[in-house]
Amino acid sequence: MLVSVRQTDLANGTGSGFIEGCEAPISMQAVEQFICAGGQQHVVICPDGTINAIGSHDRLFNATQRRAISLRDGGCIIPGCSIPAAWHHDGGETETCNGVLLCWFHHHTIDTSGWQIMMIGGVPHVKPPPWLRGGRSDADTPWRRSTKSRTQQADLLQLSQLLVQ
Ligand SMILES: [Zn+2]
Repeated sequence: MLVSVRQTDLANGTGSGFIEGCEAPISMQAVEQFICAGGQQHVVICPDGTINAIGSHDRLFNATQRRAISLRDGGCIIPGCSIPAAWHHDGGETETCNGVLLCWFHHHTIDTSGWQIMMIGGVPHVKPPPWLRGGRSDADTPWRRSTKSRTQQADLLQLSQLLVQ
């Protein structure tokens, strides 16, 4: 089970967490009960979306990395996709900066769907296919950070609201 919670909320006992795959938030009390139940691994995801640290009690690094990537991406990173995501490793060294979450469909169509994926500073970014760019050229289409993690989406929303004010 994956529980997503902000580091600051956990430290202060405030706010709420999310069980990945469940719609409703859970209380911080429930989060603490999950932690006390033991066997937890602590993944720190920075405000900029990078995976900062993975606390591990064992040497099963691949399973740990899969959990970290699942927490960072929160689902298939293609915008608008709600198909449950499976692990996708995108070549190179088996490091969290090389892997992103994709569902089966987008995993198998990523070469033909027109979606582009690039890791920028350890964070997954996507660029839509030409027919979804509103007439903009490839060069004029910005890379957009993509995550389905609700804690990170909430943070991004707060960030954009701050920018608007
Ligand atoms: Zn997908």
